[in-house]
Amino acid sequence: MVHLRNKEEIAKIRHSCRIVSETLVELESMVKPGVTTRELDTAAEKIIRGKGGVPAFKGLYGFPATLCISVNDEVVHGIPADRILLEGQIVGIDVGAITDGYYGDHARTFEVGAVDEELRQLVVATRESLDLGIAAAVAGAAIGDIGYAVQQRAEQGGYGIVRELVGHGVGRKLHEDPQVPNYGSPGSGLELQEGMCLAIEPMINMGTEKVFTEADGWTVKTMDGAPSAHFEHTIAITSNGPEVLSAYR
Ligand code: MG
Repeated sequence: MVHLRNKEEIAKIRHSCRIVSETLVELESMVKPGVTTRELDTAAEKIIRGKGGVPAFKGLYGFPATLCISVNDEVVHGIPADRILLEGQIVGIDVGAITDGYYGDHARTFEVGAVDEELRQLVVATRESLDLGIAAAVAGAAIGDIGYAVQQRAEQGGYGIVRELVGHGVGRKLHEDPQVPNYGSPGSGLELQEGMCLAIEPMINMGTEKVFTEADGWTVKTMDGAPSAHFEHTIAITSNGPEVLSAYR
């Protein structure tokens, strides 16, 4: 069932989204060679709770941490640990928060120190594919228009688009209907309506689209070991077009 949210509900989702956005902005300065992924996780939980939110991922489906931290060939859902980030890596950080019963969901891929140009281009393409997907999310368009926009940009760079994992509705649950694939054809699928709140989240691989889940039951990695990037915003579809709820700056 797809929920259409009223202004009050969207305001609550916006509030949670602002917290996750501020959290990633604060974490950005910590993402440097030498930091451990656990240090980032501990800091994120403190930031979220300090703003009156509750980490949304911790305990959800049994996930053990506040952040999903995914390095290089890890696509999403990496578990924070005593792992040290190294110069030249890319690291996807995904964060969710709940306030007043409503969720916010947001992810960015950061560069650790100086990274190779080829890797930078992957990050740029993934961020641009998200921006294009968001621009396509207007009332009267279709879910497939979002996926088509993402897919066009990713394939232009010759990248693989992860199929198994998709964006989703956001509201009183972290994952609600509808599913929002990062591929599609124009005009296909559910019609977008004012009041829908969606997390759009392209996961783009430098190599093939194929992924697998590690033995820890969580970490999704690329099958060919090539790097992967991930960006995610929660948006609301309004009469004025898509509003990015998780953009703090
Ligand atoms: Mg999500």
